[in-house]
Amino acid sequence: MKVLAILYSGGAAAKEEPRLLGTLENELAIREYLESQGHEYLVSDDKEGPDSFFQKHIADAEVLITTPFHPGYLTADLFEKAKKLKICITAGVGSDHIDLNAAVAHQVQVLEVSGSNVVSVAEHVVMNILLLVRNFVPAHEMIERGDWQVSQVARNAFDVEGKVIGTIGAGRIGYRVLQRLLPFNPKELLYYDYATLPAEAEKAVNARRVEDLKDFVSQCDIITVNAPLHEGSRGLINTELLSHFKKGAWLVNTARGAICDKDAVAAALKSGQLRGYAGDVWDVQPAPRDHVWRTMKNPLGGGNGMVPHYSGTTLDAQARYAKGTKDILDNYLTGKEQEPGNVIIGLGKWGTKAYGQR
Ligand code: NAD
Repeated sequence: MKVLAILYSGGAAAKEEPRLLGTLENELAIREYLESQGHEYLVSDDKEGPDSFFQKHIADAEVLITTPFHPGYLTADLFEKAKKLKICITAGVGSDHIDLNAAVAHQVQVLEVSGSNVVSVAEHVVMNILLLVRNFVPAHEMIERGDWQVSQVARNAFDVEGKVIGTIGAGRIGYRVLQRLLPFNPKELLYYDYATLPAEAEKAVNARRVEDLKDFVSQCDIITVNAPLHEGSRGLINTELLSHFKKGAWLVNTARGAICDKDAVAAALKSGQLRGYAGDVWDVQPAPRDHVWRTMKNPLGGGNGMVPHYSGTTLDAQARYAKGTKDILDNYLTGKEQEPGNVIIGLGKWGTKAYGQR
């Protein structure tokens, strides 16, 4: 059996730090496991274009493993080529790099290591909210420059306490964000999700569901996006929706870059409609050097908390998703039932309700 993995190159860091398991160099630590059973394990970071390692070897791979941090994009066209493919495993959470409708049609299963990095991301979201609201990045840059002008950064710094904070998507990550924000004494916690939280869960975080998206965004001072990318969420945050945000709201997106319209966000930040935007996910990854989100700023020169896609790939998370990947492989190879929570696409059918209302 041929197992193909698309992972990112970790360079010198991955050689020095073996716990960087999600890298090309450390191969999710499953080579010995696979080869001892006679399977072929091919790993590469070369994933773009018809001559790439990915597109060449997808033709006869039975298993595809890829991380959302450096995704091999499995389009409907590539499914036509992938004649032997049976299972795609996402080493992490978020399988939008795979055309999931095509996976259903081709009877290819898609599994992810659900829950493996949800705490890692929730912590990053809380950090992003704090660094935007408190205007941290410009304050730190001022110190590095050798300057000291308190008023220049304090003029755009606020408290999280007393703000209305809302999450788009209240699943594993969104709910954990709400739990972690509660001790900050927000004015209110809101959520927008077609799935209602169980009453006890809602009560435990004192959250209120708002059913209409425009109504929801118009009430929030701070919005965090925690929904998967699918047909119903692609481009959800666009110029029109941004016009319904409170002027000077903060937006954090660690879900998927393409949920936000890149240029609409940059324009809203420039005009001050958004006071800040932070996250780690981009519409194309790796993001091009000239991607507008790298350098966009609000009118006072701050409000940008962008980093590369790493919130869900802390060393703690990598240990969990590497183990989870091996468990999924093991279930597949031994014919055991998969954990239901990990099944995005089962054999010819959807295994989750989180990728849009169908
Ligand atoms: P989950 O399946 O537990 O929850 C997703 C929730 O979003 C569900 O409640 C679903 O009903 C809701 N939802 C779906 N579409 C929606 C829409 N259009 N509007 C509002 N709500 C919607 O998933 P999770 O574990 O919380 O992860 C969410 C997403 O976060 C993943 O799909 C992935 O894209 C992203 N993620 C990013 C990182 C990272 O490193 N940045 C890591 C893990 C996950």
